[in-house]
Amino acid sequence: MKDNRNNSFNNCKGIVVAIKANFLIVEISNHDLKENLVDQISKKIRLLCSRRSKLDYKGLFVDVGDVVIVESIDYKNKRAVISEVEPRKSFLKRPAVANVTQIAICISVAEPSLDIEQTSRFLLTAECASIKPIIILTKIDLIQNNDLKLYINKLKLWGYESVAVSIKNVHGIALLVDLLSKTRLTVLAGPSGVGKTSLINQLIPTLSLPTASVSKKLKRGTHTTRHVELFSIGQGSFLADTPGFNRPEIICEPSDFASLFPELRAQLINSHCKFRDCLHREEPGCGINKDFERYFFYREYLEEMINSPQSFQGG
Ligand code: GDP
Ligand code: ZN
Repeated sequence: MKDNRNNSFNNCKGIVVAIKANFLIVEISNHDLKENLVDQISKKIRLLCSRRSKLDYKGLFVDVGDVVIVESIDYKNKRAVISEVEPRKSFLKRPAVANVTQIAICISVAEPSLDIEQTSRFLLTAECASIKPIIILTKIDLIQNNDLKLYINKLKLWGYESVAVSIKNVHGIALLVDLLSKTRLTVLAGPSGVGKTSLINQLIPTLSLPTASVSKKLKRGTHTTRHVELFSIGQGSFLADTPGFNRPEIICEPSDFASLFPELRAQLINSHCKFRDCLHREEPGCGINKDFERYFFYREYLEEMINSPQSFQGG
């Protein structure tokens, strides 16, 4: 019999941090474990897991971010079996990550500079999934302080808080770590070239340590994966790196679109427009104040949704 029933640590709750082929990598933290079994700094261990077939019968899929129960833990070989999946609190479809509590959108202030449409696309993806977005303004060493203030104020008017960072002069990193540590699971998103990889390396200098043994087992380099992977940050928080998340799709009905803009949402909550099916275009009697920066983007995108609805439907 493979199970060691005498081992009191042989049934444990953990979080799926990566998926590779038919295996799932689950991180468990157990402060009671014998010292030589866990990573000395983090007191955490990553296990290569398969799934009990009863999960398939129940139709339960397991994704990165899922909280699971693992059993038959073989600490020496770092193997285990997933026997249960806890209900999800949220689910982000692309990339597939369960229980995301925050989406941090990286936008550079220069090289390349902020693009309203692209930034808004990322914000809308978060709003669509009802997950709180924050903006990380990167490469702030490339602009003057006054210009940075303009960016921060602009985003505030859109309804979003931002954190300003620079890898070049290590500005804002401690504040960002603090912010990421306050929530359970942050997905890092944003277009390529804005400095996401540099930022992750700065945020998690020990990155390769906890995943190294698993990577070796899977015969791949730590950073070469194209799948989502969760990295520990702070005490019990995680950061998801999402390569290939460049042009997010927004799956939404035209009638729900306005509620994805904080500028419009605030007005709708205070019932500035009394028509229930109003799209806030040129409808007579529409009480919405359209004098805000992203209104042109709202309109442009809305027309696109109305004219080619098939591209905005999920599936
Ligand atoms: P990614 O595509 O979003 O992962 O971006 P990378 O991390 O690969 O960075 C893209 C480029 O921006 C690289 O040449 C980096 O050296 C540069 N870069 C990243 N962060 C900063 C920063 O804070 N300041 C400046 N000046 N350049 C940066
Ligand atoms: Zn209206």
